[in-house]
Amino acid sequence: MPHDLARPTLPLRPELAGVEPYGAPQLDVPYALNVNENPYAPSAEVVADIAESVAAAAGGLNRYPDRDFLDLRADLAAYLAVESGVPLAAEQLWAANGSNEIMLHVLQAFGGPGRTAVSFAPTYSMYPEYARDTHTGWVTGRREADFSLDPQVARDTIAELAPSVVLLASPNNPTGTALPTSTVLAVLEAAAQVPGGCVVVVDEAYGEFRRRGTPSALELLADHPHLAVSRTMSKAFGLAGARVGYLAASPALVDALRVVRLPYHLSAVTQAVARAALRHAPTLMAQVGSLRDERDALVVWLRERGLQVADSDANFVLFGVFDDRHAIWQGLLDRGVLIRESGPDGWLRVSVGTPQETAAFKDALVDVAGL
Ligand code: PMP
Repeated sequence: MPHDLARPTLPLRPELAGVEPYGAPQLDVPYALNVNENPYAPSAEVVADIAESVAAAAGGLNRYPDRDFLDLRADLAAYLAVESGVPLAAEQLWAANGSNEIMLHVLQAFGGPGRTAVSFAPTYSMYPEYARDTHTGWVTGRREADFSLDPQVARDTIAELAPSVVLLASPNNPTGTALPTSTVLAVLEAAAQVPGGCVVVVDEAYGEFRRRGTPSALELLADHPHLAVSRTMSKAFGLAGARVGYLAASPALVDALRVVRLPYHLSAVTQAVARAALRHAPTLMAQVGSLRDERDALVVWLRERGLQVADSDANFVLFGVFDDRHAIWQGLLDRGVLIRESGPDGWLRVSVGTPQETAAFKDALVDVAGL
């Protein structure tokens, strides 16, 4: 049968039929507070160093890049040792084009047909897509009303489903809540009982924004070879455009990821940008402290106005509860402030911006919600 050019017959996988590509609207607005970016652009000094490193890499672009990027992995290990006090070897690090790709590698290596990945909802909405794209079953267990995870619920869910992968975002998106070490340990113990094994990923995309006293799961790596902790340069480093995510785990777990990655998945340009940026980690992250303070002040401000606000260890805040959250979202957008309709019904998520951006958000919210 000849093709109708407008509607060709394509053998699309049935589960993809009618599915929209994932992504928040990319609108040109004065105040974009919808995708948890860092509002501070890299300084001129950092930009100059990145440009110089990219120029040097450009001279060798006729060659494929270093497939195993051990220099970058060593730099990431050195950064984490400073950030969290946990010593790691380069062989324990892995990197990819954003932590999205990191998580895809994990599911490609440890998921697959007949296997199950588990998380606890509400959580990051890309997780089910990694599962779908790797033909892995996807099941969510529940979080409590305050978005915490009950260790017994976690243990029971894992014992019942015997997943091969558990994904735990901490701090969690969209709630902002972090998991205490005791809960992560309960999950790790339950995972260790799964016949055939179970990998636990603690997704610390927002790890650097955690409040004082909130631990990192990196501290648990030494005793748990089935644990992986993923991080990203998209948030605290303010490098979302560079697409660099990474993971720390046992060398055996990292070796499994090396099998499923595409050859040369991390371009020479990306490696050069990441290494240059890591040389400036303190400068790039200079604003993390002030973003944390802004976040804490925003939580207080929203609570003082009678709103419910989830505890946040991230660079965003989940607040509500509105009868018609879409009307609030639209009202804010009409005033130039783009936030995210995310989380359970009635809740909205706003990223922490510069003081000026936060002020614009507050003014618009007072106006729209009549606070
Ligand atoms: N994990 C979580 C919890 C996130 O919120 C995000 C980004 N929104 C990611 C991972 C992916 O970030 P990236 O691919 O930019 O590293």
